[in-house]
Amino acid sequence: MRKKVKQQRELKGPSLTLKWAFASSFFIFVVFTIFAVITYKSTVNLIVAREKSNAQQMMRDTELRLAVAEEAFDAGNIVNYLIADPIKANDYGDNENLYEIDPLIAELGQRLSSLYVYDVYGQTIFKTEDQNLALSSREETAAEITTINDEAGFLMSKPLYSSKTKELLGYGQVFYKLNNFYEIRNRLLSTLIILEIVSLVLSSGLGFILSSYFLKPLKVLRDTMEVIRKNPQSTVHVPKISSNDELADLAEIFNEMLDRMRLYIESQEHFVEDVSHELRTPVAVIEGHLNMLNRWGKDDPEILDESILASLQEISRMKSLVQEMLDLSRAEQSEIMYKNEISNGKEVIYQVFNNFKILYPEFVFTIDDDLPKEEQVQIYRNHFEQLIIIILDNAVKYSTKRKEVHISISKSHNQFEIAIQDFGEGIAEEEVQKVFNRFYRVDKARARNKGGNGLGLSIAKQLVENYKGRISVESSLGQGTIFRIFIPIVAE
Ligand code: ADP
Repeated sequence: MRKKVKQQRELKGPSLTLKWAFASSFFIFVVFTIFAVITYKSTVNLIVAREKSNAQQMMRDTELRLAVAEEAFDAGNIVNYLIADPIKANDYGDNENLYEIDPLIAELGQRLSSLYVYDVYGQTIFKTEDQNLALSSREETAAEITTINDEAGFLMSKPLYSSKTKELLGYGQVFYKLNNFYEIRNRLLSTLIILEIVSLVLSSGLGFILSSYFLKPLKVLRDTMEVIRKNPQSTVHVPKISSNDELADLAEIFNEMLDRMRLYIESQEHFVEDVSHELRTPVAVIEGHLNMLNRWGKDDPEILDESILASLQEISRMKSLVQEMLDLSRAEQSEIMYKNEISNGKEVIYQVFNNFKILYPEFVFTIDDDLPKEEQVQIYRNHFEQLIIIILDNAVKYSTKRKEVHISISKSHNQFEIAIQDFGEGIAEEEVQKVFNRFYRVDKARARNKGGNGLGLSIAKQLVENYKGRISVESSLGQGTIFRIFIPIVAE
């Protein structure tokens, strides 16, 4: 079934899983790129600075060694000056066994650096490379990256003076190749690119797996909704999701909503069934009478009278039924419209109480009032009246020999409590909770005779609950019944 659903319904855009995977890999890509660029830049700068300082050091060493000369050097004596390390010569100290490799010679031996010495006329008198390199400047030049014979490196030149005579001895020039640097830079670059690609692939793969794992409940939810969309009658639920997160909560809420909706639809269906059932009897009665009159009864004035009376009675029953159904439907909708209405609790009770005393003079109505002052209750006045009338009507309707109705009003826990007690037929224990159901009548025939449609208490319950109140009933068969109504009091 689920497979079928999947085939039939295509998403209009990329799935959430894909979006999530894309977003997470994009984020990782950006973070990694920033990290890689910083690493690359700082490493490159560090190495270039180090190579530059090596070139400068070499120039300084050369200058120091050649400065001991007192006259301009030539190809014959230059090497002697260069191999004598003026610092080391005095610095053997106790370490006679220590043989230290001359740093300048060691540097030159690496073949990355070349040293050129020129005489005062700029002629090469010493070089560590095969090819010649002309003196680039007779002035002192700072180390600059220059390309010579397709190789880049730091080139610097300097005039050399004797430290004693202060005379110009010649010129030194250093060319320090950056081969090592380029090799390291290229390797770093390729390593970073490979790492970037690997992290991109891994993060999108992992993102995809993780998101499809986390969003699995959402798919289940969507599939269930799709099944319901296709078949609103189906009784499916979202399977329990064990992740205990927001999605599990969503599934639970969705299931609760489904149950409520189904209950609502079911009750609507029942309602329609009940209404048509309720209407069938009066319609059948009227139809019977009219048929009879049509066939022969209209000529008999007695039958005519009787039939018209009976039909009128049925019509007035239908009228009251339609009115009550309307009341119920209005009560179901009143929650939003009249939510903030308030009325005077005591005033309404006394008014209805007085009306009933006039309407039913054969009854004894008493009121027990525990309230020292008026209380404001959170309910629309008309609804409050309607509610009390329904209960009082029932008390009168279902009273037997003892025609007494007792009302008491009090206040507890910020609730206005009205108790209405009669001493009539009462309700059997197994029936007592059903009296609030629509169209429920304990004794259908008896109630019908008394004009009851079984909707009064459902209207009352709906009204009370709309205002966050409560209604309850206690009854004992043959003894009487007490209805208790609780309505919230408006806080002062
Ligand atoms: P009805 O219009 O039939 O009175 P209600 O919803 O008001 O409908 O009441 C439902 C049923 O509850 C009644 O048919 C009756 O059997 C029972 N009932 C209600 N109030 C009382 C009462 N005060 N004493 C005994 N039975 C009652």
